[in-house]
Amino acid sequence: MVSRERWSSNFPRWFDWILEEAEIYDYGRYPVKGMGIWRPYGFQIRRRIIDIIREVLDGRGHEEVLFPLLIPETLLQVEKEHIKGFEDEVYWVTHGGLEPLDVKLALRPTSETSITFMESYWIKSYRQLPKKYYQIVSIFRYETKATRPMIRLREVTTFKEAHTVHDTFEDSERQVLEAIEAYKEIYDRLAIPYLVSKRPEWDKFPGALYTIAFDIVMPDGRALQIGTVHNLGQNFTKVFDFKIQLSDESHDYPWQTSYGISDRIVATVISIHGDDRGTILPPNIAPIQVVIVPIPAGSEEDRRLVDKTVKEVEKLLAGHSIRVKVDDREEVRPGAKFYYWEARGVPVRIEIGPREAKNGTVTIVRRDTLEKMETPVSTLVDELDRLFNSIYETLKERAWNYMKSKIKRTTSLDEAKSWVSERRGIVELPWCGMDDCAAQMEDMLEAKTLGTPWPREDAPGMKCPICGRDAVTWIRYSKTY
Ligand code: ZN
Repeated sequence: MVSRERWSSNFPRWFDWILEEAEIYDYGRYPVKGMGIWRPYGFQIRRRIIDIIREVLDGRGHEEVLFPLLIPETLLQVEKEHIKGFEDEVYWVTHGGLEPLDVKLALRPTSETSITFMESYWIKSYRQLPKKYYQIVSIFRYETKATRPMIRLREVTTFKEAHTVHDTFEDSERQVLEAIEAYKEIYDRLAIPYLVSKRPEWDKFPGALYTIAFDIVMPDGRALQIGTVHNLGQNFTKVFDFKIQLSDESHDYPWQTSYGISDRIVATVISIHGDDRGTILPPNIAPIQVVIVPIPAGSEEDRRLVDKTVKEVEKLLAGHSIRVKVDDREEVRPGAKFYYWEARGVPVRIEIGPREAKNGTVTIVRRDTLEKMETPVSTLVDELDRLFNSIYETLKERAWNYMKSKIKRTTSLDEAKSWVSERRGIVELPWCGMDDCAAQMEDMLEAKTLGTPWPREDAPGMKCPICGRDAVTWIRYSKTY
């Protein structure tokens, strides 16, 4: 049992604590390293987040598919840079029963190769384009760094990967923009802030022309990548000799993009909306939106009245499709129940005692601000609707303000170094555009390069702190997960 930890001052321990305390995710006990288990409460949170991802992608013309888990080595190794980027972290199936296999089979680390291979059969003409597929599946990576629940796993159980095909480069560039807009909508609906960067050349997705990434600053000041968008160019279609007919009747290789979101999106929601009491779930994804805690009454008559009111309020809310739960455990005192549901992040608690029951009111406590108020039952449903919106807005504003406070723009390497080493977040320094200077800054700061602002930003009048030449843009560094 991990003891209660402080969100602000000991986030890594807090994260382990909340996963166990709120029965979200079991990690470290299953006898395969880097693999965790979604428990029912965590599964419900995850499912609602996936629902949002599906809604946003479906609404933008994406079609969901499901590809096999196994990818033959012959497919995976076709794109040379791609396999080079993944080869040291692929799990291989080498046997069927006792028989060694002729061709080794990879547990998919990502699906660019298998999807492009099949698209070459399905897509013959520009008239079928753009084509946007996605799947939400497990991927496997033999991570050699220290693993962390939901954040660095060997089985990523919630990998949403989208793969698109286009007849022109321009249309693939338009798709990159659409993907970025889609991701912004997903994060916005979860009240999650983000910083969008173009990853440096040496840290792009293996096989891509370039990579755009979404990062967030976690409560311990380290950046976490929460989404990526890649323009793949014609790299994969060329190696699979996948050609289509174009509008001028000529034939050429189509253009592709791919973009992914993982379990980290769930880790982020739980973490960024946390405090020392536990997590605070945005009402739209909370498995339980309202918990009703009856306050014990003295007399038998009061008790019956409280019970009756609790049942009426429960029925009223359920009838309005509010996810409500009555905590009527006899053996647990109200204070312990408050603690229990606060940790789990239930957005609203309703207390009903004899006084409320007699007055036809309830006491409402919102989880984000812990404010208390009394409301007549007759207007409760409207009040909750207003509260859910207000909680969402408060969480979003709080998270964005927090994130902004964690980004420091400076021209001084010393200041940047102390910002990063004290784990205060992300620094932005002026940069001349030379890889060498970026690498030197990375070494001096002992941090990772997140890349340059997207959309691109100039740095007028600024000098690169390494070589002294004119800066062409800003470059971001942080300690990372
Ligand atoms: Zn320079």
